[in-house]
Amino acid sequence: MKVLKFGGTSVGTAQNIKKVIAILQKESLSSPIVCVVSAVGGITDKLLQAGELAKQKNKSYLTVFDKIKSIHFKVIEDLVNNPKSILKEVDATFENLKQLLNGIYLINELSPKTSDKLVSYGELLSSFIIAEVMEDLNLNTVLKNSQELIITNNNFTKAEVNYDVTNKNIVDYFNKANQLITILPGFVSKSQSGETTTLGRGGSDFTAAIVAAALKVDQLEIWTDVSGMYTTNPKLVKQAYPIANLSYQEAMELSHFGAKVLYPPTVQPVLNLSIPIHIKNTLHPEAFGTIISNQKKENHLTVKGISHIDNVALLTLEGSGMVGIPGFSKRLFETLANEKINIIFITQASSEHSICFGIDINNAEQAEQAINNAFEYEISLHKINPIIVEKGLSIIALIGDNMKSHQGISGKLFSTLGKNNINVRAIAQGASEKNISAVINQSDVKKALNSLHERFFEVNTKQLNVFITGIGNVGEKLIDQIKQQHNFLKKNLKLDVKIVGMSNSRKMIFNPNGIDLNNWTEPFHHADKSSIEGFYQKVIDLNLRNSIFVDVTANKNVSAIYDSYLKQSVAVVACNKIACSDKYANYKNLQDLSLKYNAPFLYETNVGAGLPIINTLNNLVASGDKVISIQAVLSGSLNFVFNNFSDKKNFHDTVKQAQFEGYTEPDPRIDLSGIDVARKILILARENGIPMEIEDITNDSFLTEANLNSDSVDDFYDTLINDEAHFQKLYASAQANNCQLKYVAEYKNGKAKVGLQEVPEGHPFYNLEGKDNIVMFYTQRYPEQPLIVKGAGAGADVTASGLFADIIRIGNK
Ligand code: ADP
Ligand code: ASP
Ligand code: MG
Repeated sequence: MKVLKFGGTSVGTAQNIKKVIAILQKESLSSPIVCVVSAVGGITDKLLQAGELAKQKNKSYLTVFDKIKSIHFKVIEDLVNNPKSILKEVDATFENLKQLLNGIYLINELSPKTSDKLVSYGELLSSFIIAEVMEDLNLNTVLKNSQELIITNNNFTKAEVNYDVTNKNIVDYFNKANQLITILPGFVSKSQSGETTTLGRGGSDFTAAIVAAALKVDQLEIWTDVSGMYTTNPKLVKQAYPIANLSYQEAMELSHFGAKVLYPPTVQPVLNLSIPIHIKNTLHPEAFGTIISNQKKENHLTVKGISHIDNVALLTLEGSGMVGIPGFSKRLFETLANEKINIIFITQASSEHSICFGIDINNAEQAEQAINNAFEYEISLHKINPIIVEKGLSIIALIGDNMKSHQGISGKLFSTLGKNNINVRAIAQGASEKNISAVINQSDVKKALNSLHERFFEVNTKQLNVFITGIGNVGEKLIDQIKQQHNFLKKNLKLDVKIVGMSNSRKMIFNPNGIDLNNWTEPFHHADKSSIEGFYQKVIDLNLRNSIFVDVTANKNVSAIYDSYLKQSVAVVACNKIACSDKYANYKNLQDLSLKYNAPFLYETNVGAGLPIINTLNNLVASGDKVISIQAVLSGSLNFVFNNFSDKKNFHDTVKQAQFEGYTEPDPRIDLSGIDVARKILILARENGIPMEIEDITNDSFLTEANLNSDSVDDFYDTLINDEAHFQKLYASAQANNCQLKYVAEYKNGKAKVGLQEVPEGHPFYNLEGKDNIVMFYTQRYPEQPLIVKGAGAGADVTASGLFADIIRIGNK
């Protein structure tokens, strides 16, 4: 004999019921079967909703009633060719239900006892309909009301089973029964005095387990809408997958901590008899599912699953009067037991100064009152404080029998939560170490489950959620590069880089599952209006793990919001150099926030675009080398200008050409004045640990007073024409000395300067071409022959690749 239980979704539509019947037919070929059914999906909730409305004297309970009725009628009409006779009987049942609801409406009250009577209609109806359909198909079927078998106490809504009577009833009945298939309604039972009771929400699983244990069957099958017990709730974590084998303890812990696929008490009756529970998917019967048994199966995973419970209230009782006084906890927990309040979670600080426990949020007020009453005397003496109640919380739990023999699991748990800016309010770990649980904000649950799942089950792939601001030349190149490298990174570096948000100064779009990079321009043009603050808010609201904000603008206001991102543990990658070259205090603050919130702040492209300059310097310093001096040509624009300027080509036209070809800022004065180079050497000095300000840098400008004092770009170009002789003089002098003009940045002994220099032949700067940059690091380890980084120091492609490299570095962290 086998016991099969089908859940609400499995019997939720005519189409699914047909699948159930096919499974029953197949399975009954090998042995007689007992089939326990839930109410049609969603009906229990609707019955309770109708009852609540009626109790509140809200007439719309009738609308809900009509809906419940029409759902059932539709199922019947879709299933049976000639539904008349079934409909007649079902109609009579609905009349009774309506009268019950009218009664609740009239007396304005819904007691637990009436509530059980009300919800029992769900299973009674579904089992009746399915049995009728099976008979209609001439299958050897009988319907038995499990209320005649399962006898409980009077604890309405979650009654306790009297196993002596129940087991005897079941054995006696099935000894005499000779049908191949017996249909039983799940969830419903009766008290000794004959009142309708139920076994608790989700209790049809329990019905099946009770019957399976009483009949000592070989296997209990729970058929549902997912392919087994998953590593975590598959509705919240897309990457979750079914666990093939679990021990009873693991299954119990997982279900107790919210894996709703199995009702927790289900395990107990079958555990004692070692009857395996097989969880299967009605919609995909071919899937293996999960087998729960006490057979030890080899499994390399120490953490088997991650569960969570929402709607938790955390209550804390504290005060000096608790220390060392025996019986304190007993009084506390007795108070809760008397109120029939279930405790989900307990921790106590070792100082005994406080006890903290988690309960269902619906019991919070009742618990608060009862405890404050129970300890009224101690509270009046200020020996303890009135109980503190916090709401809006959830518990997440790592479950696995083998966690006790592995160290470092809680470390991984908390570092993963910490890295993702998820605040842990309380923790508990039983000595058996089958479960480590943490209380967190409910709004963080999805992020917590996803990041923990990634850490414990997808060891290999890490998802990076990228938000790009500044979709111009460089931004578009970055998007292209990410698109092109996506599969490579996933395969080789186990990084799944998703662009979740994009914005420019006008538009912004988001897709939490990743924007389709093959088709983003069209949606982007029709996107919402953007703002710096609005973009930030959306990043925070999405609350995704491994979030990275990428600033591809040159906008001061964008750089002013980095601190907010870092404080939310969102990493920042910037090619915008304003933040790092602004006041030292601001730079330092961002570095500190990055450390404090474990959120990387990377800006390799601030100096030399994609060239690995900052990274090289950081590595030198971190590995204990000391920088003696830095000499560099860091302006692609100035390099271009002085490589093209000569006695045959005037200075004005050369600068115009540089601007035209995109080698200068829109305002070429920023480049020509040397400010841009000064900012870059400032950043290098700071990376070398020197708290320098931009004013500390000596800037010997080669421009004339008139150039520097021009009040517009046009005016500036006019002054260049007027001062041509000045520039020709610089050129002639360099020629006479057999030198090249280079705009050089230097750092030495904590001081920095920038300015035009005549570079002699043979010097590494002499032959620097086009828009190339070069940096020479003289250090203790490289005292004579410097470490040189050289290459294209400007351009959209290389800048984008520098940003991309920063993103990948964060992923590899
Ligand atoms: P049924 O109506 O068949 O009893 P339930 O809705 O009670 O089904 O339970 C199945 C649901 O449990 C799944 O659809 C899924 O959303 C939820 N669930 C939560 N955690 C898990 C988990 N770890 N594994 C599988 N399902 C889970
Ligand atoms: N129908 C009941 C409920 O929704 C029992 C069950 O489905 O297991 O809670
Ligand atoms: Mg269920």
